[in-house]
Amino acid sequence: MITVAQVIVDVAAYPVDRPFDYLVPAEMTQIIEIGSRVKVPFGPRNVLGFVVAIANETDVPVEKIKPVTQLLDIEPVLTHEMLELAKWLKNETICYEIDALQVMLPSALRAKYEKIVNLQTEVERLPESLQELFKTTQHVNVNVFEKNNMLNELKQALKNKHVTIENIVKQKGKVKEVRKVQIIENVQKLTEIHQQISNRAKKQKQLVEWMQSHSGEIMDPEVIYKETNSSPQVLNTLIELGAASFVKQEIYRDPFAKEVQKTDFLNLTEEQSVALNQITRAIDQKQPETFLLHGVTGSGKTEVYLQTIAKVLSDGKEAIVLVPEISLTPQMTERFRSRFGELVAVMHSGLSVGEKYDEWRKIHQGKVKVVVGARSAVFAPFENVGIIILDEEHESTYKQEDSPRYHARDVAIRRGKHHQCPVILGSATPSLESFARAKKNVYTLLNLKERALKQSMPKVEIVDMREELKKGNRSMFSLNLVESIQQRLDRKEQIVLFLNRRGYSSFVLCRDCGTVLQCENCDISLTYHRKNEKCKCHYCGYEIHVPKTCPQCQSDHIRFFGTGTQKVEEELAKFFPGARVLRMDVDTTRTKGSHEQLLQAFGDGKADILLGTQMIAKGLDYPNITLVGVLSADTSLHLPDFRAAEKTFQLLTQVSGRAGRHEKPGEVVVQTYTPEHYAIQLSQAQDYEPFYEREMYMRHQAGYPPYYYLALIQVSHEDVLMAADYAGKAAEWLRSQLSYNVSIIGPTAAGISRLQNRYRYQCLLKYKVEPDLIPTLLQLIKIYRSDWIKKGINLSIDLDPNMI
Ligand code: ADP
Ligand code: ZN
Ligand code: ZN
Repeated sequence: MITVAQVIVDVAAYPVDRPFDYLVPAEMTQIIEIGSRVKVPFGPRNVLGFVVAIANETDVPVEKIKPVTQLLDIEPVLTHEMLELAKWLKNETICYEIDALQVMLPSALRAKYEKIVNLQTEVERLPESLQELFKTTQHVNVNVFEKNNMLNELKQALKNKHVTIENIVKQKGKVKEVRKVQIIENVQKLTEIHQQISNRAKKQKQLVEWMQSHSGEIMDPEVIYKETNSSPQVLNTLIELGAASFVKQEIYRDPFAKEVQKTDFLNLTEEQSVALNQITRAIDQKQPETFLLHGVTGSGKTEVYLQTIAKVLSDGKEAIVLVPEISLTPQMTERFRSRFGELVAVMHSGLSVGEKYDEWRKIHQGKVKVVVGARSAVFAPFENVGIIILDEEHESTYKQEDSPRYHARDVAIRRGKHHQCPVILGSATPSLESFARAKKNVYTLLNLKERALKQSMPKVEIVDMREELKKGNRSMFSLNLVESIQQRLDRKEQIVLFLNRRGYSSFVLCRDCGTVLQCENCDISLTYHRKNEKCKCHYCGYEIHVPKTCPQCQSDHIRFFGTGTQKVEEELAKFFPGARVLRMDVDTTRTKGSHEQLLQAFGDGKADILLGTQMIAKGLDYPNITLVGVLSADTSLHLPDFRAAEKTFQLLTQVSGRAGRHEKPGEVVVQTYTPEHYAIQLSQAQDYEPFYEREMYMRHQAGYPPYYYLALIQVSHEDVLMAADYAGKAAEWLRSQLSYNVSIIGPTAAGISRLQNRYRYQCLLKYKVEPDLIPTLLQLIKIYRSDWIKKGINLSIDLDPNMI
């Protein structure tokens, strides 16, 4: 009988997306498992692959089938749940299965690494065949077992827990180890060694005596020297005599910079208790129910999460908490660590490859029970999940922009079904989609209408900047804001100034001919960076020195436009000479840990004003912040995005929520050139539902989600005619296949019509119900993969696009 592994291979853009059959060599048949990674021959190369099934037959003729080259994991890295989830993602988001599999794993597992087998017990307990290998060391590379045809023995030893296996990532992100000393367990042997030692070697004798009362322990050598007043020489002699040995102990890099104080559970408010009871009921009934926890800023949503998690842990289950990347501040993670201590793993993009891998292993090995992380933490490899929480569920970063283009909310709900556990979506400003579902009772709505400490919501004042101009004020600060800032400075209170910078970066313009400096590769104007006098493309990284003269007309009237944080900082220095300002943007937070340091400094009162972009809108919770200023509320309103109003409302609500969260009341000043816009008007009252009703009406009128679904088909090519031609072909083909239930708009040039030297065209599909849609799109992908791709075309499909 033959054993065949069905493998999804890591080959980019292959026309067919299905598993390939490989013969499992005899020595691997007992140990290969579904969910393990393998190396397999594919064409002339050896590629990485995932075993998705094991069979005893194949359609491939015996003389043609190739064997698995190498087995990379003896303990599988993916569970059955994950393999199922990958298949689902493949159809749900229209991606290659390999992309779906890879996205679930830390990047370290895609790198080169070696597998090391660690000895857990004494050599004598091992089967004889293995004893030889471990005689001289604690660690054996797994290749040695393979070479000696001893993989079966290895498997047995793993089962008996005599050995464990670690993947040691070569290059980046090695598993970190420290050298420790292990004293042998056998006290009898220690006594024998004691007798061997001459009476003159006093120190050695003393050390063995001490060891007799510490047999079997693993210790830091420094501790031994200290406790016994001995030296490395003394210890070495004893190691030579076999009383102890050096062992390597794995340590996890700790992404938490400092110790965390334990905190107690708070007595819940009435509203919080109602919410917690509902969630607890669903947990106890094993209901995969989705809750929408709609709570104003400061209403104590996080406390509800914390107590839900405590309940889940006491049931012996695990919790997944998703937080948008920019909200994953140390303050945020500390709130979880201060309750659940070492049981918490944290995952976000600020961690190094090695740190991420360590956190992932803690989850995989069951050493932690809670993960707090950004989008991809939704794939945390827990096997007994009791709750999945998405905080700030409306955030667009929960949607991944490249393949697989999944939304963490959908994956969370899918996993909730698998684990029969509830999902909590939390927000002060839920996405329209989620709130609409709650209204239809698809989700269960839980309300927290009051702030937990009964603080009043901050007073929001809207300043019409056009009026300022009429008053002759040409600065970026309204008279009102200047006055409010000065007041806070006098009272030694803190101020947060928010610069909504999306689409508002400083560009470089020639005043004589109107030329704006553009990226060479993209249809994007370059952003000016004062620090190093450079102009950069934020999409492809292209950069040039600021030219002295205009490249078009050679005029030297070059000017910088737009309001960057640096410029605001300079203006602040003019208006408030004594004020201490901290600037927080992509430039000041590039190095690791700088984000934390800046926030910490502000929290410690080392600055009066915190000035920043989006990244300060979230999570900031300091008692002394009593004023929030929004320098320009309009910038996000004018983006070519059907969610522009929703995003503006969300942003203003978030930012306002930073003020007056504790005893001192808060005030918010919002500057705008369009004070009449409903998103700005309604954010003043900080009342979600009127905004929801109004925005739903607009969406209905314009035929956008949540009334209609969207799918975006994008076609790109280096040659503009090719791109346009194939976008046309795609549209034509879709029109021939789909019913009138789907309206197909385009092709048109994409919002950014050229990116990284490729021209981009797109078609937008709008539909309500269309059972044929996914099969048709899969069909289109097939055509593309088998033919168009060879012509240099790139085609992507995004169901539920963020921007269009
Ligand atoms: P949200 O996540 O809804 O914005 P938080 O969970 O950050 O709100 O809570 C706001 C503040 O109220 C925090 O300082 C928190 O410690 C406090 N808080 C929350 N719940 C309670 C409670 N039941 N009793 C006392 N303080 C609470
Ligand atoms: Zn010019
Ligand atoms: Zn560019």
